[in-house]
Amino acid sequence: MRAILSCLLLLLFCGPKLVLAEGNPSWTTPIAPFRIADNLYYVGSQDLASYLVVTPKGDILINANLATSPSQIRASVEALGFHWSDIKVLLNGQAHFDHMAGAAEVVRETHAKNMVMDGDVSVVETGARTDFLSPSPNIPRYAPVHVDRVLHDGDTVSLGGVTLTAHKTAGHTRGCTTWTMRSHLPGEPAETIRNIVIVGGTGFWSEYHFVATAGHPVSYPGIAQDFQHTFSTLRALPCDVFLGAHGGYFDMLTKLKRYPQDGPRVFIDPVGYKEYVADAQETFEKALSKQEAAVAH
Ligand SMILES: [Zn+2]
Repeated sequence: MRAILSCLLLLLFCGPKLVLAEGNPSWTTPIAPFRIADNLYYVGSQDLASYLVVTPKGDILINANLATSPSQIRASVEALGFHWSDIKVLLNGQAHFDHMAGAAEVVRETHAKNMVMDGDVSVVETGARTDFLSPSPNIPRYAPVHVDRVLHDGDTVSLGGVTLTAHKTAGHTRGCTTWTMRSHLPGEPAETIRNIVIVGGTGFWSEYHFVATAGHPVSYPGIAQDFQHTFSTLRALPCDVFLGAHGGYFDMLTKLKRYPQDGPRVFIDPVGYKEYVADAQETFEKALSKQEAAVAH
C-alpha cells in the first residue's frame, strides 16, 4: 500500500514537470479577453496570463508568453477594440520561455520598449542560454530579445498617467518580477481604488539547489536568501485584486465562472492572496529544510 502511495505521489510531483517543456494544453487554449479594472484587461490564454494596461499615451503589455502566443494575444487585444501597434512597453513576470518566448515577435511588430528586471536581463538577451538551470529540458531556449531598459527593485514604469511598480521577487528566476498598480474597478464606487498585484512566480522544482552539496553547488549564489526575501516582499504588499503570471496562481478559471454575474470584482481576493503566499513559503521552507537535512547527514 505504501509503495503504491509513494508511486502515486511521485507521479503527482513529477507530472507537472514532465509537461513543462512540451507545454500544457491550457497554455495555448484561447479564452475570450475580459476587463479587470478600468484600464486593465486580460489578453492571455486559459492559463498563460497576459495583461494589457491601456492609457491615453499608448498601452503596456505584461507577458508575451510562448513563441506561438503573440497572434493569440493580438487577437484578444483587437477583440477588445484596441490596437496592437499602440503597445509601447513590454513587461514580464519572469524570463522563462512560457512568459518570454513571444517577446521578440511582440517587439518586432509593435516596436515596444522591452523592460526587464536586472537579474533576468542576460537570460532575455541570450534567449535563456544563461538561465541558471540551463541546459535543462525544463528551460527551452527562445529567440533572444534586446532589453531597452534595465529595471531594479522598486522602479516604476509610467505611461499616460498610469504607474506600475516593479517588485523584484527573485528565486524562481533571478529577476522574477511582481507588478503592482492601483486602479478603479468597473461597478465600484468612483472613489474606491484597488491595490492590484500580479505575482511573477514563486515555484521551483527538484533541479533547484538551495544548499550546496559535495556533488552540486547552489543553483546560484544567494538563491535561498532571494526566495526568503521574495516571501517577505509578497507578504508586505497590500493586495485587493490578486493576479499572476499563470491563471492557476489565482484560480482564474474558477473565479471567471462568477464573472458574468459579479463582474471584475470576482478578482478581489485578499484572503486568497495571503493563502497563496503562505502556501508558497511553506512549500519552499520544507524543501529548504529537506536539502539542509540531506547535507547534514
Ligand atoms: Zn517559470
